[in-house]
Amino acid sequence: MDESREWLQALKSAAGTTEAWVSSRCQTGLDFLFPPLCISCGSQIGEPYSLCSECWREVSFVEGAVCARCGLPFEIDPGENAVCAGCYAAPTSFDRARSIFHYDEPSKRLILGFKHGDRLERAPAFLNWLARVGPMLAQEADFIVPVPLHSSRLWRRRYNQSAILAQGIARRFDKIYAPLLLERVRATPSQGSMPSAKARQRNVASAFRVSKRERVKISSKNVLLLDDVYTTGATLNACARALRGAGASRIGMLTLARVVRPRSGAI
Ligand SMILES: [Zn+2]
Ligand SMILES: [Zn+2]
Repeated sequence: MDESREWLQALKSAAGTTEAWVSSRCQTGLDFLFPPLCISCGSQIGEPYSLCSECWREVSFVEGAVCARCGLPFEIDPGENAVCAGCYAAPTSFDRARSIFHYDEPSKRLILGFKHGDRLERAPAFLNWLARVGPMLAQEADFIVPVPLHSSRLWRRRYNQSAILAQGIARRFDKIYAPLLLERVRATPSQGSMPSAKARQRNVASAFRVSKRERVKISSKNVLLLDDVYTTGATLNACARALRGAGASRIGMLTLARVVRPRSGAI
């Protein structure tokens, strides 16, 4: 290496060290002014975008062996590629789903605040956890798509929480964010007001379609859908059917939480 290149190398390395030093000092200063807070209770924590130890203990993360298809956690590990009884009896219209939390009171509070209460500062933590539970789903996707809200509901809520998650995952994995690919063509009553799984299915049947302009794009492509909660899978299946009808190849799902009924077994 000649002298001028050596000198350039030394200068670059010094600049890098200075930059790292300035950035660490700035971060320390910012932490002093705005200390990281637990995304649930707001108490001070060491690392940003996370939960304090108390809230962490309350939340149930989906861990261990899960159904290869719908992501339902198993009580006993049945081995690789096992599917749950539900998926064996009636395979989902999507190929694979994964979720961060069990849907229970603590996760419900976290999600409802994000969905209805403008608690958008929770998004970076959710995105970190989603990236951890579904890296393969995101990596193999060509398009990242939110479950859409009907325009009347979007107008009332002002934002679509699933779109915030889809956009964040697309950025992190350098994928195409496609918020207009799927359309909600019927304004359906809230799924939460439906008395049964059958009623939920009927409620969202034919509620979604792939936009005519985008249809050609997804032929033989992989799509990853983002939503907040996987309850019975009725909404996710309705979206997947619309995507499949438009020629999508593989369809993945990532949700913040999923309802886990007790005694989940494998087939
Ligand atoms: Zn907390
Ligand atoms: Zn399953």
